[in-house]
Amino acid sequence: MLQDVLQQIEQRNRFVLTSHARPDGDAIGSALACCQVLRAMGKQADVVLHDGVPRIYRTLPFADQVLQADRIAGNYDAAIILECDSIHRTRLEGLENRFLISIDHHVSGRPFADVNWIDPHAVATGEMVFRLAREAGTPFSPEMATCLYTALMTDTGSFMFQGTNEHTFALARELVLAGADPSHCARSIYFAHSVGKMRLLGEALRNLNTEGNVGWTWVTQKQMERCDAKEEDCEGLVNYVLSIGELEVAAFFRELPDGRLRVSLRSKGKLDVAQVAEGFGGGGHECASGCSVDGPLLVAVRRVLDQIRRGPPVQ
Ligand code: 5GP
Repeated sequence: MLQDVLQQIEQRNRFVLTSHARPDGDAIGSALACCQVLRAMGKQADVVLHDGVPRIYRTLPFADQVLQADRIAGNYDAAIILECDSIHRTRLEGLENRFLISIDHHVSGRPFADVNWIDPHAVATGEMVFRLAREAGTPFSPEMATCLYTALMTDTGSFMFQGTNEHTFALARELVLAGADPSHCARSIYFAHSVGKMRLLGEALRNLNTEGNVGWTWVTQKQMERCDAKEEDCEGLVNYVLSIGELEVAAFFRELPDGRLRVSLRSKGKLDVAQVAEGFGGGGHECASGCSVDGPLLVAVRRVLDQIRRGPPVQ
């Protein structure tokens, strides 16, 4: 798996790296770090993302070199797709006929590429990039460490989500020793919100509903416009719902311009929300998943809640 990936990389020279649309900290951090690993191996590498780098991740090393595009046009020998279970989720055209390498840690990860390294035991794709760097024997720079620490910190919910264990902290220790500054990384992400995001949070909390141990909320297109909020400002709003003591599961619905809904699901561990999301064509992890469903809003809410009620417990 890891050896296959490394072998394929060694045989090629020019790489394009990408991840899913609406990239989160693990998508950005692991892509930026992997790009640095490849460059340290003497390869040419570019990171291309459909949505570019969200505001809170723009201070990451080399984030300013990320290319925003709708299609991959360059002359590359291979594309490395990180933290993403399909070409479709990258929202990029021009990947279809290329040699594809997938590096992913989702339980819902599918082997869609020519070489697939999927490890659901890794707490973040960043952890896998760390192992790749180790195996490749590349020198480990503070910039790589900063990108990987950010991937680890965000995908473990600041070292709080299920799956965080002694290995997670051992890896964090390695990254800090290599030059990642924990308080700087945390400050850049958690104390860097826009005013629009905070206003949107207010709207979302006003729409809060609970039923038994399930809580949900939503924001409409109109509310987003009123708050001057962007798509990326919705990241993490679902966690405010999950923070309510008596809830086990939280859902957040964002109305899309075409009337469909983007859904974020979170669980404290008793219900497997990856399976709920997969039922709607999405995916993710047992405790954090997402999908898109048809509108209107109230119908979508009802369908998702029904599925949560019927949902399978964590094995
Ligand atoms: P979020 O709710 O933050 O968008 O996503 C939570 C987790 O579920 C992330 O790991 C994300 O990659 C995954 N996820 C979200 N939406 C989708 C989707 O539509 N398809 C798949 N396969 N995974 C998703």
